[in-house]
Amino acid sequence: MTDMRAALLHGVRDMRCSEVPMPEPRGDELLLRVRSVGVCGSDLHYYLESGIGSDQIREPMVLGHEFAAEVVDARAEECGFAPGTLVAVDPQLSCGVCEWCQDGHPNLCPQVRFTGAPPHHGAMSEYFAAPRHLLHPVPAGFDADDTAMLEPLGIAIHALDLARLKPLESVAVLGAGPIGLLLLQVARASGAGDLYAIDPLAYRAQAARALGADAVAGNLDAIKEWTGGRGVDVVLEATNAPIGPQHAAEAVRIGGRVVLVGIPEGDEFNLKASIVRRKGLSFKMSRRMRHVYPRAIQMVERGLVQLKPIVTHSFPLERAAEAFALQADYRDGVLKSMIHP
Ligand SMILES: [Zn+2]
Ligand SMILES: [Zn+2]
Repeated sequence: MTDMRAALLHGVRDMRCSEVPMPEPRGDELLLRVRSVGVCGSDLHYYLESGIGSDQIREPMVLGHEFAAEVVDARAEECGFAPGTLVAVDPQLSCGVCEWCQDGHPNLCPQVRFTGAPPHHGAMSEYFAAPRHLLHPVPAGFDADDTAMLEPLGIAIHALDLARLKPLESVAVLGAGPIGLLLLQVARASGAGDLYAIDPLAYRAQAARALGADAVAGNLDAIKEWTGGRGVDVVLEATNAPIGPQHAAEAVRIGGRVVLVGIPEGDEFNLKASIVRRKGLSFKMSRRMRHVYPRAIQMVERGLVQLKPIVTHSFPLERAAEAFALQADYRDGVLKSMIHP
């Protein structure tokens, strides 16, 4: 059996490239040559805290769930793919038979096999095997980085689905990292009126301005000012701060809606009960996504979202550790790093 290169996370801030066995496709899985893998905020929780809640890293594992690959399997053609077809790979393999899957919520499946969440290896490796139905071929003109970005774009689309935005409602996005910048653009495409972004890092706030925010600031006070004390109709929270939900509650209007997309450090939220009660707020927790790839692809084709300005850095697989350190320390104006195995 042959080996391939993979970036393995051994523990906190300890990522090393080494040889691992090649994946052997089973059942309806096809062999893929990985081309681009994004470093996600959720990957950073594993890198910095060695886990998210009960999902803890117990042995060296490969991260990576935002990825593009070429179908190189010998059975590609009989499965309907021209050899070398570039595909986005949905990282979420749900069981399809549980109550929640049957009810149309595969993102909530408790038996889900999620690529790059323990104990399942992710895609920061030369090859990967995935079931045929999770492969989404992309139209001509999409490069591997664009294709890898369809996963976080899907996260943003699902969050907007949950927000049930009405035309010209005002929206604030808290946190202008890659997910915040995608939320902003999808909110605009979904008919948002005044669109604001808050991020304490000036370069991220500027990126939000460049990608369509009407106004940006480093802290919440600005929202009170911009809305004359009323607050916005909808807040989309995409920070990694435990205080994020509290800030969302402060920024939203009486009776407004909040969608929480970010994952807080330390697995706890700080949220005062009085403010959510008195304002009669609706909170929704966004969990991964449903069947959103076709819309994600269309949004890019129609020019409704820009992905390239979000991909600021790229690294070969051997330097994946550098990419993670850069992301963790918010150095060099980083938004999204792509790993190219
Ligand atoms: Zn992600
Ligand atoms: Zn299920």
